[in-house]
Amino acid sequence: MKQVSEIEFIKAPQLKQKPNPKELGFGKYFTDYMFTMDYDLINGWHAAKITPFAPLELSPSAFIFHYGQAVFEGLKAYKTNDGRTLLFRANKHVARLNHSCERICIPTIDPTIAMDALLALLEVEKDWVPTLNGTSLYIRPFVIATEPYLGVRPAHEYKFIIILSPVGAYYSGKQLMPVKIYVEDEYVRAIPGGVGHTKTPGNYAASMSAQQKANSLGYDQVLWLDGKEKKYIEEVGSMNIFFKINGEVYTPKLNGSILAGVTRDTVLELIKSWGIPVHEETLSIEDIYKAYQDGHLEEVFGTGTAAVISPVGELKWEDHVMTINNFETGEFTAKLYETITNIQFGKMEDSFAWTI
Ligand code: PMP
Repeated sequence: MKQVSEIEFIKAPQLKQKPNPKELGFGKYFTDYMFTMDYDLINGWHAAKITPFAPLELSPSAFIFHYGQAVFEGLKAYKTNDGRTLLFRANKHVARLNHSCERICIPTIDPTIAMDALLALLEVEKDWVPTLNGTSLYIRPFVIATEPYLGVRPAHEYKFIIILSPVGAYYSGKQLMPVKIYVEDEYVRAIPGGVGHTKTPGNYAASMSAQQKANSLGYDQVLWLDGKEKKYIEEVGSMNIFFKINGEVYTPKLNGSILAGVTRDTVLELIKSWGIPVHEETLSIEDIYKAYQDGHLEEVFGTGTAAVISPVGELKWEDHVMTINNFETGEFTAKLYETITNIQFGKMEDSFAWTI
């Protein structure tokens, strides 16, 4: 299979006005350019281009619209005080994109080419990385099946696209905001043997009714239980979850239905480096409730690229309401947040070589 090495650049006739950095929010604004690369059976991945950000032209019969054959990633670039742009663990995101591709029968992309694409687009768009405290440039690489054909089999044509969106600080002010979580016992996110370990759009489409239900009951997000027995803890919203119990840290082990979060891995590495015992194991909601009743459940937090660390202030499971650490951000949770964001924004030595 041929692989592309050169990227064609098509200049935009006019550049956009940059949005007010105080009103960025999440995923509302897009930069001037996007990266695209095509795949077909004859040429493999080819025709790499950086072109003005614009709508795509696809046949209504394109695969993506019917069978959802697609994968995506989400990572961020950060501006340092001395004006550099840092990417956080980009190689891990590229590896996970290819892991998702394999499960969804999409041809993988040479990681060097994917990284080159990312770096080339960021070079063009570096002025779009916002500088206001806590803001960043969200990067959304994705692959869609574009072949115009209605038969169910892996498509023969794809597009790899990278778009960029300047995003606001997740937390306004310095304080982290604890969230209220509803333990979902009706709907499930993923099943053994399914696609929960991938970032494929269907997982997110399937999660929305539970999210809506939790919101209508006054909760921010859902805690997902396993798809078989609805007993074991998997993830929270679109984050991985951690529990600090009696001075030790626990997170569900990767079992095929949980997404292997890059932030999850970062947190595990940091905790280990601090010499605190950390366990990746099967955790039931009953175990957590028991730890709570015994007064040993000290802190709970979610981890993900968007929030980095999201403290959990309340867990509602059946008739039980667990208030964690008086609905305040725990010291350990805050320390993890500080450490990771300091590395991301280049304010602290990156001894793990996570940033480029
Ligand atoms: N679980 C799910 C389902 C997610 O969508 C995400 C966000 N990518 C995460 C966990 C956290 O992963 P990461 O730390 O790589 O952002």
